[in-house]
Amino acid sequence: MTDTDLTLVSAWKGAQTRLKAAHIDSPAIDARLLLEAATGYTRTDILTDPYKLLTAEQKATLDDYLTRRERRVPVARILGRKGFWKLLLDLTPSVLVPRPETECIVDMILKTTEEGQAFTLADLGVGSGAILLSVLSERPAAKGLGTDVSEEALAVARDNAANLGLDGRAAFLRTSWGAGLADASFDFVASNPPYIRSEVIPTLDPEVRDHDPHLALDGGESGLDAYVEMIPEAFRILKAGGTAWMEIGYDQSAAVEDLMKKAGFFNVVTFKDLSDLPRIVVGQKL
Ligand code: GLN
Repeated sequence: MTDTDLTLVSAWKGAQTRLKAAHIDSPAIDARLLLEAATGYTRTDILTDPYKLLTAEQKATLDDYLTRRERRVPVARILGRKGFWKLLLDLTPSVLVPRPETECIVDMILKTTEEGQAFTLADLGVGSGAILLSVLSERPAAKGLGTDVSEEALAVARDNAANLGLDGRAAFLRTSWGAGLADASFDFVASNPPYIRSEVIPTLDPEVRDHDPHLALDGGESGLDAYVEMIPEAFRILKAGGTAWMEIGYDQSAAVEDLMKKAGFFNVVTFKDLSDLPRIVVGQKL
């Protein structure tokens, strides 16, 4: 393949200039991720050999990626994958792009458990598998179940589990939240359900509004529909002494705490994320 006269460093600068002009939020990071993917080089390759020339094919691929990003397609959708916790997860349009704030749930579950601990975790509305697979990757004696109403989402989660070698410890089931699961069968339950009020969805950034599945975003008129259904199920499938973690929107702490208490949870507390916003509600079953 013929080389162009474009070096890696000037390609990176040029990409940033284009993304800045298109008012993209994080032009430097996005430009680097797209350059890495278009060329197959790592960040280290780019740093150690910045004057390497792009081939015509690499330049054309980068150009295509940048055009899509300028049209507000998220990097994770262009590449079909996203880094979450220590994993790289494959994505399709059927699953939400995993968000950094959801890593708080993983962090909290890991802080509650020890490395060799054998426990069971149910991830209700598992999507790409982000929460469940991150926990299983760090806890070799743990087993988990991911549920989802979307068969397409379950296919993504199953593929991610297999790619990570976690399919022996992760099972998946098509159902609504915990419906059909046995009473008192899990040590822990986690969920990042849809929690955005329906009327807010049209005002979201195009990256979210036009590319994340609304099934994974839309929490109904109040934003709380999923919790109303899911929390009693979470309580029912937990063993005595078990803990549940729920991700919430920044203004839903009081309402979700209330639903947890009404369902029978005790020690109900809300924790903040790294941006200092209320993000995780935790409760225990006595
Ligand atoms: N945190 C996501 C967002 O703000 C929403 C995901 C969800 O509803 N669980 O776009």
